Amino acid sequence: MAGGWTKDGAVSEQIEASINDELARMRTRKVPQGESLTHCADCEEPIPEARRLALPGVKLCIDCVRERDGAFKARGGINRRGSKDSQLK
Ligand SMILES: [Zn+2]
Repeated sequence: MAGGWTKDGAVSEQIEASINDELARMRTRKVPQGESLTHCADCEEPIPEARRLALPGVKLCIDCVRERDGAFKARGGINRRGSKDSQLK
């Protein structure tokens, strides 16, 4: 979710501009938030219809989801190795 907007009066104009900008972008893309994308948001490969129906609001193809999961786990391994190295020093 796109959060983080403050409600200070000084930036209210900027907030309105951001909202209008976002609405304009959503209209241009014709992909309302929460709906599945026809193409992966990451690699732009087509997402199979079966996957879009199975996962409403899906934004990534299965390959990218797996890649992210793998990258997350790999990063954990690197961190563990890194801390071990620093202990040896
Ligand atoms: Zn992808």
